Amino acid sequence: MGSYRIVALPGDGIGPEVMAATVRVVEKVTDGVTGLDLQITEHEAGAAFYRKTGTALPDDVLDDCLSADAVLLSAIGLPDVRKPDGTEVQPDMMMGLRRAMDVYAAIRPVKLYPGVKSPLNTADAGIDLVIVRENLEGLFSSFGGGCIVGNDVATDTIVITREGTRKVVDVAFKLAAKRSGRPLDGQQTVTCVDKANVFRSYAFFRRVFSDVAAQHPDIAIDTAYVDAMSLYMVQSPSAYDVLVMENQFGDILSDLGAAIVGGLGLAPSAEIGDEHGLFQPSHGSAPDLAGKNVANPIAMILSAAMMFDWLAERHSDEAAGEAARRIEQAAEQVLASGRYMPADLGGTASTSEVAAAVIAALMK
Ligand code: ATP
Repeated sequence: MGSYRIVALPGDGIGPEVMAATVRVVEKVTDGVTGLDLQITEHEAGAAFYRKTGTALPDDVLDDCLSADAVLLSAIGLPDVRKPDGTEVQPDMMMGLRRAMDVYAAIRPVKLYPGVKSPLNTADAGIDLVIVRENLEGLFSSFGGGCIVGNDVATDTIVITREGTRKVVDVAFKLAAKRSGRPLDGQQTVTCVDKANVFRSYAFFRRVFSDVAAQHPDIAIDTAYVDAMSLYMVQSPSAYDVLVMENQFGDILSDLGAAIVGGLGLAPSAEIGDEHGLFQPSHGSAPDLAGKNVANPIAMILSAAMMFDWLAERHSDEAAGEAARRIEQAAEQVLASGRYMPADLGGTASTSEVAAAVIAALMK
């Protein structure tokens, strides 16, 4: 029997609302799947907590994240809560959590669901690609470092290691092996996105990509420079399956990916390592919508489905796999029906109404 302890961090802004919606869905799916037991522990953390206590992520909460089977996080950060140096609390807490959990790969599906309109007219064959973002290195490894010389010069350094690159590229190929390929023709493909024509660090990233690709001869490979990729994702999104890239490029292309399939309210993510998994929507705390019960909870609900999928694989647990499939199918049905669309998708359904509709679809 799969029995898991989940830490939930509702965080700031719309975070608590989308977390409450997601916990309702998760509890319902757990009730409906035989052999699945979940214990959820919620903790305060984030910018509002920092304002109250001077700490965003207390040590005991971090310890609990490290001892749990998985962590669900909704959104951290409030623009008016700043540290004494003027920076926001969010990057500090998120980088600290990612580093402590050693979650080196961020998996970000970019999927156009039936019933959702893409702003593109180039997606007749569908959009179903995944961005695999290296999550600890690249430009972000300079976070907390960097250098300012007087009033005139500032630097941050990109760090690419063979081992860090090997691990994230390996995740990309294993993911491609499980998927049904690019919508255009079903060809399983991993595309390396870089800037290897200009920078040695990205040329090195591409070399390591080629080394790992050689161990996966059944999967087609492709390469693209990041500037061209931002064009291709708009012009021919159906031609892509799995894209793997350095941290900063993944950060940027993830938002472009969300934009072509209905926006941030539909963009889930899974941040995984060898020991830990952190599951959160790609969006931030959207303070403009907080407290109004209007945020779209589907990105967070789909992130919980990704959590079950990861637990299923890690523990060879068919029940967790079934929970993942059921949640995604229920969200898909709600979107396809078009009856409970939240405001960001052009509807009037509240956060709690969307959650209730997903739960109703789960019970069918
Ligand atoms: P961060 O830097 O923390 O990622 P951000 O500044 O990029 O945050 P978000 O908080 O992600 O911004 O949101 C940007 C805008 O997108 C919000 O102001 C909101 O209008 C919209 N948005 C984000 N998430 C959602 C959601 N779940 N439902 C509806 N709209 C959303």
